[in-house]
Amino acid sequence: MELQRAETLGISQEDELNGWTDWRETPPAEFAVIGDPVAHSLSPRMHRAAIRSLGWTYHYRAIRVPESEFGLAIDWLTRLGFRGLNVTLPLKEQAFRWADTLDEPTHRLGVANTLCLLTGRGTNTDAPGFMDVLLGAGLGPGSSILLLGAGGTARALAKVLVEAGHQVSIWNRTASKALVLAASVGAVTVREATAAGFAAIVNATAAGLAGESPPIDWSGSSKGTVVIDAGYADEPTPFVREARQRGLMAIDGRPLLLAQGVRSFEWWHGIEAPRLAMSSAIGLMPCAG
Ligand code: NDP
Repeated sequence: MELQRAETLGISQEDELNGWTDWRETPPAEFAVIGDPVAHSLSPRMHRAAIRSLGWTYHYRAIRVPESEFGLAIDWLTRLGFRGLNVTLPLKEQAFRWADTLDEPTHRLGVANTLCLLTGRGTNTDAPGFMDVLLGAGLGPGSSILLLGAGGTARALAKVLVEAGHQVSIWNRTASKALVLAASVGAVTVREATAAGFAAIVNATAAGLAGESPPIDWSGSSKGTVVIDAGYADEPTPFVREARQRGLMAIDGRPLLLAQGVRSFEWWHGIEAPRLAMSSAIGLMPCAG
């Protein structure tokens, strides 16, 4: 009965049945997203939709890889025949160090979110994907941006934003990490996250995974402030909810998921990604991606 319901919703039996597995227990497949946690990831749904729409028979899985087991897990997955991996938190810096070959922009970012196990190559599709999202949100050059977080994703976003000429202020729960990141990319830090004076506020923390929003003082935000959460969930994230309650236009991480996923797909396969199948699978209207 459950499967019938899933099919009615357009979700395949494989989507419904395959949640995630630990790396030691995964069945063989060709592609996967790895991270810890990984259960929240919509990458399997999106990439499986792409694979299906092309009539291919590849499998894409969600695999939990604890930070301390990264090297062992990659060796095992390579032996199992995996070809390509998307990498989510907290493994992006390790993915960068694992790769034998990186393109020049990724080399400058210091974090990788997409790997090719066949060649040892790595790339970062979050950073250019995020710039697509910013462009779609209508943010002009030289904008003042408050970036929340100092993990792997924040690192890539901070770097690409500064390189694009934006003025970036970084807040992080652990202030020392914000200082290190800001110094390495040419940004500044703030002790308190206050919306006033910023054209855009970007949440690149993992707070949403704990059902929380990073602490932010929304007073002083203006109607035009662009609010972007890298996180996503079936319901609006706490950060998006807070912003919308204050009348701000806020988007969750699905447009970023699509933008980086399209680039990963094209990097692995060398053909144009089936964008419509991918966006529909994660509940995005084509105009939102
Ligand atoms: P990391 O584990 O590298 O970094 C986590 C960051 O979140 C750190 O800055 C950490 O702060 C902060 N943090 C964790 N919990 C909390 C909390 N409860 N309150 C405030 N801050 C917190 O993760 P990533 O940088 O790789 O990912 C960050 C988020 O971005 C994740 O939710 C991920 O899913 C999302 N993401 C989404 C993408 C998409 O396609 N939509 C693409 C990339 C990322 P501290 O240093 O103090 O520990």
